[in-house]
Amino acid sequence: MKIITIPCLQDNFAYLLICTKTQQAAVVDPSEATPVISEIERQGVKLTTILNTHHHWDHVDGNQELNAKYADLFIYGHESDRGRIPGQTEFLKCGDEVNFGKQRGTFLHNPGHTSGAVTYVFGKTAFTGDTLFAAGCGRLFEGTPAQMHDSLNVQISGLADDTELYFGHEYTEANLRFALSVESRNAEIQHKLEAVSALCSSGKFSTPTTLAEERLTNPFMRCTSAEILACVKSKEPDHNLEEEEVFRTLRELKNNF
Ligand SMILES: [Zn+2]
Repeated sequence: MKIITIPCLQDNFAYLLICTKTQQAAVVDPSEATPVISEIERQGVKLTTILNTHHHWDHVDGNQELNAKYADLFIYGHESDRGRIPGQTEFLKCGDEVNFGKQRGTFLHNPGHTSGAVTYVFGKTAFTGDTLFAAGCGRLFEGTPAQMHDSLNVQISGLADDTELYFGHEYTEANLRFALSVESRNAEIQHKLEAVSALCSSGKFSTPTTLAEERLTNPFMRCTSAEILACVKSKEPDHNLEEEEVFRTLRELKNNF
């Protein structure tokens, strides 16, 4: 499978997935159709499938135009997003497969950012939408801190260390600055911030990251780090330092960063 990153809107990423055995393609989160159509034409592939990670407009707004142009697309989303994802034809429930061309994938249900958020998984490659960002996570619009903690630290964290994680927005530099604010002595974060700043100032993207890198640099996957616990305690002296509560506090600090 070949993966092409397509920058959309201000800071969104869509991804074109090409089954190299069949030249059939799927697109993850087409927030707008035009740049996706350009890439499909450049690659000379046949779009058969849309994979929506959740229902927010900046992940689904290209669905109808793509479906009008290419016709009869399979449009995937979680079953609980019925009525919220334009043109949805596939309603994912536990155990379902996600297929296009000869590619066989699975999904993880990741409530937190939204109730129907999913991560698509094809072997050592995963598409996390707005659940996991490099060094960060999405805002909790429809879920609790405990749900989002589980989505990141149980569901996604259950994948192999060398899984490549393709995320929904280029927020990495700002996320790393927040990560440093709660864990200033973490050398991995310092190094990654330098590397990502250089990358972004030369017009490149920071996607994908890997699960191994996230375990070292993402504060929302480091709720047991001694430095983060000390930071949380300094902000809330009565804090019980339970992992899900640490997660909640980090998310609140990030909201106000
Ligand atoms: Zn979103």
